[in-house]
Amino acid sequence: MSKHTPTPAGRDIELAFSEANKILDIINTPEAALSDEQRKWVSSNVADNFANHVNRGFLDYRKSVTETDDFALTDWYGQGSILRDIMGREYIDMLGGFGLYSPGIRHPKIVAAAKAQLDRSPQYSQEMLDPLRGQLAKVLAKLTPGDLQYGFFANSGTEAVDGAMKLAKLYTGRRGFISTTGGFHGKSLGALSLLGKSVYREPLLPLLGGVRHVPYGDADAVEQLLKIADSVGSMDVAAVVAEPIQGEAGAVVPPDDYWPRLREICSRYGVLLIADEVQTGFGRTGKIFGVDHWDVAPDIICFGKALGGGVVPMSGFFSTAEIWSCLEPNPFMHTTTTGGNPLACAAALAGIGVMLEENLPGQAAEKGRYLLQKLGRLKEQYPHILKDIRGKGLLLAMVFENDELGYKVVSGLFKRKVLTAGTLNNSSVVRLEPALNIPYELLDEVLARLEDTLQNVSHAI
Ligand SMILES: *Cc1c(COP(=O)(O)O)cnc(C)c1O
Repeated sequence: MSKHTPTPAGRDIELAFSEANKILDIINTPEAALSDEQRKWVSSNVADNFANHVNRGFLDYRKSVTETDDFALTDWYGQGSILRDIMGREYIDMLGGFGLYSPGIRHPKIVAAAKAQLDRSPQYSQEMLDPLRGQLAKVLAKLTPGDLQYGFFANSGTEAVDGAMKLAKLYTGRRGFISTTGGFHGKSLGALSLLGKSVYREPLLPLLGGVRHVPYGDADAVEQLLKIADSVGSMDVAAVVAEPIQGEAGAVVPPDDYWPRLREICSRYGVLLIADEVQTGFGRTGKIFGVDHWDVAPDIICFGKALGGGVVPMSGFFSTAEIWSCLEPNPFMHTTTTGGNPLACAAALAGIGVMLEENLPGQAAEKGRYLLQKLGRLKEQYPHILKDIRGKGLLLAMVFENDELGYKVVSGLFKRKVLTAGTLNNSSVVRLEPALNIPYELLDEVLARLEDTLQNVSHAI
């Protein structure tokens, strides 16, 4: 790390001001007018800044740093499924911000709505009623399955999950949750209590009490826990929480009877069912919501990621009028200053419009089938590298023989200008989550580059 220019710690207000202006000058300069010098400054400066002021640990993991010889790949410009860094290097985006960019990067209609709202009022007064929030809540109430009717907006998926947990506790008067192994729900102390991976939990124990984990996809395990709690008269479970299809765990699709059975079991024992749709929502898996694959209506649903149309951070949780009534006597039980701001609502409303107009769920279903079939063929050709392909819609994953082979493939793709997830120590399962409206020509281009990569890796082992 010694190659990074150190910035001394300590206060320097003049330097703070001049550094802010330096980058502001650059972002206020039209793209084509940027000098080579400015571009190089941005590109080398970003790595120094991460090393000195963000977290130098990141620099050791990211392909965008370790696999580029001179200047680290620098986030700068995006449109649709194409990312271009400050040095002009162009990548096909198959990562999609982990589900953030479902409508593509900077969809013109979503950007236009956000710009229009930005020129009016980006935040709200905290006193007057905000019309966009009310209208977005109505739109989502109509879009969601079952009787889901009332909602609360926040900025991150994690906050949506935390809010859903509070609502379930308030409504049931119980404290416990049943979550799933491998499940991802965010890393705040509340959401982390549900998360199903020890590496993130263990150093922070104890987390919330009364949370139990069962294997994902195993409805029997849920039923057994509830049956025992019920029979000994110690029912302390407020809700069962799960992702319709696990995202972070690597596009894990549960058995077909899983969600219908969870619904039936929760209703039978009077326990709430929370669907964490932060990643699966808004068309990603080939339906508007993940639970739509099984026609299940949860009691509480969580949104995030693509809700803001890939333009503004936005999240929320919705529930039925009956459950929501517990928040009515004191609506200040759960609040946020910036959540559901008009800028985010405008982006979300436009994003939902784009999803319906372009039939993004239908596109995801069709393109997902296309990719599964083509990737399946590559798996047959390279079974010693590519062990499995799984997922639904455009929430797909390639399962490699091991981390090392997986990393060879994703870094090979990276060299061929295709952006995917996958880090040095975590590449045995690599998700593909492109924009739902990615053109077929780009998918074919990615498949060709992947085949070339697999051939190359295959020769080297
Ligand atoms: C990403 C994700 C979250 C957390 O969302 P953030 O916006 O990162 O806080 C929660 N649940 C699921 C299923 C997710 O995929």
